[in-house]
Amino acid sequence: MLVARAALFIKGFECGPLDTFAYLVSDTVPAPNGIASACVIDCSYGSTPLLLAEISKQNFLIEKILNTHGHFDHSADNFPLQQATGAPIFIHHLDEWRLIEPYKENFPIPFPITPTKASTYLHDGDLIDVGSLRFEVIYTPGHTLGGVCFYEPRHHVLFAGDTLFKGSVGRWDFIDGNLDQLSHSLSRLMQLPDDVTVYSGHGSPTTIGDERRTNPIIRQLGI
Ligand SMILES: [Zn+2]
Ligand SMILES: [Zn+2]
Repeated sequence: MLVARAALFIKGFECGPLDTFAYLVSDTVPAPNGIASACVIDCSYGSTPLLLAEISKQNFLIEKILNTHGHFDHSADNFPLQQATGAPIFIHHLDEWRLIEPYKENFPIPFPITPTKASTYLHDGDLIDVGSLRFEVIYTPGHTLGGVCFYEPRHHVLFAGDTLFKGSVGRWDFIDGNLDQLSHSLSRLMQLPDDVTVYSGHGSPTTIGDERRTNPIIRQLGI
């Protein structure tokens, strides 16, 4: 008998004017109906058709749409993706206003965004199941007040949104950004094991160990 084993599937789609990643993530274990559970982490502008093509190719069921934060470049396609998949939208309550009023922040957004609302609010320490995957929510304010990261300890992966990048960290000079909060959030992330792979909202993947050793801003902040 063939026993389905969990293997992590991650595919990033770099979309929109700010080259923002939408990540499609699955445990690849098919249910009796042959469909495997999956989620999307952040929905950048124009990612929906690419995501849907891959979802159909892989025979995935999108259980959840997870937002690391509400900035338009990460949430622009929440509406079309939710329309297409019926999946609930998860975000921290302090960033939901960005989904409800996408133009309130005065960014020069060069395309239309249909407002959405959260189906479920995320809190620090929440456990979010997607098939056999279990993401821990780490509340990481500083880039935005309602920013979170998603950590899957068994697979050693972290989805960091705009809190941590390869060789850099998120900006703290937008509305409700805060350097003290960002420093605290980064120090929490730096407590994760060295071998955790970090998938950020922009740029290449990295690891916690590499950032702890080489990230100039982390070092400058004394973390
Ligand atoms: Zn952002
Ligand atoms: Zn971003």
